Amino acid sequence: MTDLVLDARGLVRRYGAVAAVDGADVAVPRGSIVALLGPSGCGKTTTLRLIAGLDHGEGTIDIDGVRVSGGATPVPPEARGVGLVFQEGVLFPHLDVGANVAYGLRGATRRADAERMLGLLGIAGLARRMPHELSGGEQQRAALARTLAPRPSLVLLDEPFAHLDAPLREHVRDEMLRAIADTGTSALLVTHDQAEALAIADRVIVMNRGRIHQDATPEDVYRHPVDRFTASFVGRAVLVEAQVTERGTARSRLGELSVDSAAPAGDRLAVLRPESIAVVTDGTGIAGRVVRSSFRGADRLLRIELADGTIVETLGDRDRRVGDRVRVAVRGVVATVPVGDR
Ligand code: ADP
Ligand code: MG
Repeated sequence: MTDLVLDARGLVRRYGAVAAVDGADVAVPRGSIVALLGPSGCGKTTTLRLIAGLDHGEGTIDIDGVRVSGGATPVPPEARGVGLVFQEGVLFPHLDVGANVAYGLRGATRRADAERMLGLLGIAGLARRMPHELSGGEQQRAALARTLAPRPSLVLLDEPFAHLDAPLREHVRDEMLRAIADTGTSALLVTHDQAEALAIADRVIVMNRGRIHQDATPEDVYRHPVDRFTASFVGRAVLVEAQVTERGTARSRLGELSVDSAAPAGDRLAVLRPESIAVVTDGTGIAGRVVRSSFRGADRLLRIELADGTIVETLGDRDRRVGDRVRVAVRGVVATVPVGDR
């Protein structure tokens, strides 16, 4: 059995008639970074607040093997061994950065311990600055230093990079993730950014409307989505009706497809990723017309309309223009998901 730092089951939080969190299981294996990924309003922050003990609902929450919610006595937030980092790092405005980080520490070495933690986040030189003298990225790193300093077993991060500009975001993110890994801390990171979740997490938990759709590695969420929502929300996908006829084969408007051999026979939806579609020039394939061509720097995303109106997408490195006639083929094995939404 995996050693779980966090094992939360059946979390429910209702606001009036609406369940913001509706039976969610959230687990974090020790030493890993787990992304809780879903669109705005799906219940991510509410889930974090339940885990932190800032809010209460139904279900059980175990942290480090201790039942902190849903047991005989709920454990208060400060005794859960959990650290929190919000969208905007909240530092005490009247204390310098070093004092902020030392705040939760005890003993004669607290100031030195705080400075070591700042060093781990690449901001050792900022200990004497006041919070308002820091940039947004520096504030986030200082906030994480303060959170990590008392050595929590789990940190909960709520969209911590959301307010940072793109070029800076990646740098701050790398520094923060490295500090989390170097201190051996486990993390549950909330994000609505699927690219970010895929890039940084060991596991991705996909959430929508208070429910968990999938909990798997980034590769599995992308390659083997369990349902329509996950297939469309994580990565680009065009979903096409497909009849799975035998193990590994399906009929579709794009001809015969090789599908995941686990797909059951019957009506399914094939998940066509841009890399599943190739423009072919040997006369084979299906005729279509380029209806959009978006230059994206390293590549070009082409939207192609087939004769029957089906739209597919592919990555092309050549200068295809809108209106160009092309032929396309499906390549590789494609995933399928059930037709009905869960
Ligand atoms: P996310 O963090 O994924 O954007 P939230 O957890 O903040 O989503 O919110 C989930 C849903 O619960 C939203 O529809 C939100 O409007 C609702 N909600 C959150 N907090 C409250 C509250 N205190 N009272 C009523 N509704 C709330
Ligand atoms: Mg939120």
